[in-house]
Amino acid sequence: MIIGGGPGGYEAALVGAQLGGEVTLIEDRGLGGSAVLTDVVPSKSLIAVSGVMSRARKSNEMGLVYEAADSRGKPLVKVDLMKVNASVKALAKAQSDDIRHRLERDGITLIEGRGRLNGPHEVIAETATGEVRLPADYILVSVGTRPRTLPDAQPDGERILTWAQLYDIDEIPERLIVVGSGVTGTEFANAYDALGVPITLVSSQPQVLPGQDPDATKVLQALFHERGMDLVLGSRAVRAHREGNGVVVTLEDGREVLGSHVLMAVGSIPNTHDIGLTEAGVILKPSGHINVDRVSRSSAQGVYAAGDCTGVFPLASVAAMQGRIAMWHALGDAVEPFNRAEVSSNIFTNPEIATVGVTQDDIDSGRVRGIGVTLPLASNPRAKMLGFKDGFVKLFCRPSTGNIIGGVIVAPRASELIHSIAIAVAEQINVDDFAHDFTVYPSLSGSIAEAARRLHGHSIELLNQQITL
Ligand SMILES: Cc1cc2nc3c(=O)[nH]c(=O)nc-3n(C[C@H](O)[C@H](O)[C@H](O)COP(=O)(O)OP(=O)(O)OC[C@H]3O[C@@H](n4cnc5c(N)ncnc54)[C@H](O)[C@@H]3O)c2cc1C
Repeated sequence: MIIGGGPGGYEAALVGAQLGGEVTLIEDRGLGGSAVLTDVVPSKSLIAVSGVMSRARKSNEMGLVYEAADSRGKPLVKVDLMKVNASVKALAKAQSDDIRHRLERDGITLIEGRGRLNGPHEVIAETATGEVRLPADYILVSVGTRPRTLPDAQPDGERILTWAQLYDIDEIPERLIVVGSGVTGTEFANAYDALGVPITLVSSQPQVLPGQDPDATKVLQALFHERGMDLVLGSRAVRAHREGNGVVVTLEDGREVLGSHVLMAVGSIPNTHDIGLTEAGVILKPSGHINVDRVSRSSAQGVYAAGDCTGVFPLASVAAMQGRIAMWHALGDAVEPFNRAEVSSNIFTNPEIATVGVTQDDIDSGRVRGIGVTLPLASNPRAKMLGFKDGFVKLFCRPSTGNIIGGVIVAPRASELIHSIAIAVAEQINVDDFAHDFTVYPSLSGSIAEAARRLHGHSIELLNQQITL
């Protein structure tokens, strides 16, 4: 029995069926979960449009001539946000339908409704036609999270919005206030700015993307300034209310920020209440997330959990892997426990910021013995041809063996480029082997190989030191 049809749940269902299990999946909103319906798929579709828009607006620097220009001499390109929103929602729906077909084809029983545990070996599904009791050898809970809201900033779906409501607004914001500079807030601020919407980004943190690679956030923050974004950092928003045709966001120190709309991106809370978890012996963390081990087992025998509701790493890719691991483990297949060090992730801004493995902070704090090299991309020929100068490749390796243990890429399509470093981390490839493999000329990946080349020899000598070349 699987409760929740997001990536954690549906990927597990597919593996469960592949291994010969009799699988039932209960989902209360739509297959694909928040990932497909409101989070990953719509946001990345919107960001794809914003990327086209930024390239169009920059293209005059590369010699393209547009008939009309705005007051800053930039090509006059406008967005039909209603059309973009409609296409984003259609894409999400199509993806959800594809998932349904795949699950049906693989013989998985689908139930529309809300699931809850009745002990560790029974699930009760509340459906439109009543309650169904479903016995289970194993239960996988993958119920995800929902946007956190502040008591004095309740979303109304019109002007005070969560990210799930953004695609339903029927006008282009005159000024969008984004509250929260974590990944979600930063990605939306970047995307709407590129679409021509004036942005005020409010955050209690002193910088955008707290906790991310400091060099990467420096690059992005400088670009946000350059693009004219209004950054109100180190200021906690405590209230948002409507006034006339706009919204007012009140900061902790009493200052007010005015806009036409506000997006509240202040985190998520797990959907783990009222579904019989603690009664079934499942221990929750104080945050409400489910405590799991590296093979997705909860504290109750036979009950597994995967995805955002575990609070391990809020990524669709991690949810999917935790779900698969749960099934491999439960159904007796070979299983490799989840390894956080191998997770690659990406922030879909312009430029993108992709990371894998150990971080700069791990090395600076002495938690991990490693050395690093940072290579600016400004001198990369392909970057020049693409009209791109802000970004870098950073590579970390073990001082003793030269094995690659992590990396950061700030570049267009960093999400695609990080894969070679992710493989190197997972397969313990050393900088010399990595550097000896061919890359295309000219290419951004050439700089990754070059970074590995620069670490040759240094790896043994420069213990615990960061070298910037
Ligand atoms: C704006 C945004 C952008 C993001 N972009 C990315 C990205 O680019 N890449 C990435 O890897 N991650 C991204 N994420 C994170 C990603 O969305 C989550 O990690 C992913 O959705 C987690 O999957 P899940 O299966 O745990 O939960 P979900 O996708 O939330 O699915 C859980 C499902 O369970 C259902 N459910 C809940 N309770 C019950 C119940 N009792 N009975 C039945 N059904 C129930 C819910 O309705 C939901 O449909 C993004 C998140 C946000 C907010």
